[in-house]
Amino acid sequence: MNSTHLLKSDNEKLCDKPKEACGVFGIVAPTEDVARLTFFGLYALQHRGQESCGIATFDGLNVAIHKNLGLVSQVFDENILAKLKGDIAIGHTRYSTTGSTNVVNAQPILVNYKDTKIVLAHNGNLVNTTDLRDFLIKQGFSFESTTDSEVMAKLIVYELGQGKDLKNAIQAAFMQCQGAFSVLVATKDYLIAVRDSHGVRPLCLGITSKGQYVIASESCALDIIGANFVRDISPGEILFINKQQKLDLGLSLSEAKPHHCIFELIYFSRPDSTFKGLSIYHFRKELGRQLARETPIDADYVISVPDSGTPAAIGYAEESKLPFGEALIKNRYIGRTFIQPSQTLRELGIRLKLNPLRDVIAGKRIVVIDDSIVRGNTSRKIVKLIKESGAKEIHMRISSPPVQWPCFYGIDIDSREQLIAANSKSLEDITKFVGADTLKYISHEGMIKATELHRDLFCTACFSGEYPIAIPNELEGAKLRYERTRQEV
Ligand code: SF4
Repeated sequence: MNSTHLLKSDNEKLCDKPKEACGVFGIVAPTEDVARLTFFGLYALQHRGQESCGIATFDGLNVAIHKNLGLVSQVFDENILAKLKGDIAIGHTRYSTTGSTNVVNAQPILVNYKDTKIVLAHNGNLVNTTDLRDFLIKQGFSFESTTDSEVMAKLIVYELGQGKDLKNAIQAAFMQCQGAFSVLVATKDYLIAVRDSHGVRPLCLGITSKGQYVIASESCALDIIGANFVRDISPGEILFINKQQKLDLGLSLSEAKPHHCIFELIYFSRPDSTFKGLSIYHFRKELGRQLARETPIDADYVISVPDSGTPAAIGYAEESKLPFGEALIKNRYIGRTFIQPSQTLRELGIRLKLNPLRDVIAGKRIVVIDDSIVRGNTSRKIVKLIKESGAKEIHMRISSPPVQWPCFYGIDIDSREQLIAANSKSLEDITKFVGADTLKYISHEGMIKATELHRDLFCTACFSGEYPIAIPNELEGAKLRYERTRQEV
């Protein structure tokens, strides 16, 4: 990721969880207020990107677009939504994985070919952006942003310029893209969904009670507008939807080779979204149960690091027959702020986000469940907080295996230097660093077992180092600065 032009909030710095790349939402609904529906869809997808957002609408002739830095509720108001008229809309929430935090990188992206206007919104990360960008520059294209999404949009324009019609141009453009991409494209006539052949990032199709189609990164965005889940967009699928709600399934990319991001199940997706027909909440609880079977401990109480650790903590408690309770209360209203805390507040650290219940913790042997440890700093602060609240023992249990490898597919798990499990020599080192009495992770096998699905269906590269989509040398060089030797933890 490039340098940011905007200071990240200290709230964000307090959380060393990896950041999701983006969320996308699109709808074809000629009789409805599509901008408002897209606003609510993005509202449900806010967790997937909190740096910028945008909505584009087509009214049959013209395109209207509004995008800016900030949360969905900060960027849009009644006046702005009233100006976004149309019958097709797409929207985007962004966290930067390629390109800096700058309004010019906000999406949807608008490109023109003659009289044809095209908008595009993307979740994921291409691994061959440099090659594609260089190619397009040689063809005379220039770029306003530093995103791979603009490269995709301009590839479509390039293919139209080669005399292809829209459908063939879209297919030809995305056939050249390598990496993770769940993309929405809109024109005055179509809403188009494209998902890479590995299906790394989620994308699903829904339908409203009036028979109008919706596409969203996660099913929770369908729920919020009362739409029903129809199915996932298949890996490698290109789906055109016209204003008469006719689905055109005739095109595809290369053969489907599903490798869904397993971290979506562990942490990124909302627990009320679904995967293969089951709630993400269900998977997280199963991870907790498996973790309890693998790493039992004699203790008084199971607590979670809210909110993402909670379903696994409930599963752990049920399986181990220990009581579960809340002991770290999250300040749910802190959100994202660009106001920098004073030095005094900064010293309070994690307390800006989490406040411990001393009467629950004091004198107890506590099992703390979290979904992942990336850099280790947050876990260390949480253990300190629990210790200061009088816990007798602290046993950390993590519902994912050690994160040892960077992600090239749209998540900001950057270079190996940042990852405590790649840096530390042993589990003992990490336990010592975070300050817990014991620390244990779910096994790789256990994680797969909890999904009740075949291991080959998933990308697990940040845990295993086995990348399902080949990584070009220059990217490897940038992110895998370490020797590629697996650490034993
Ligand atoms: S490397 Fe990890 S975070 Fe990235 S897609 Fe694969 S499982 Fe997901």
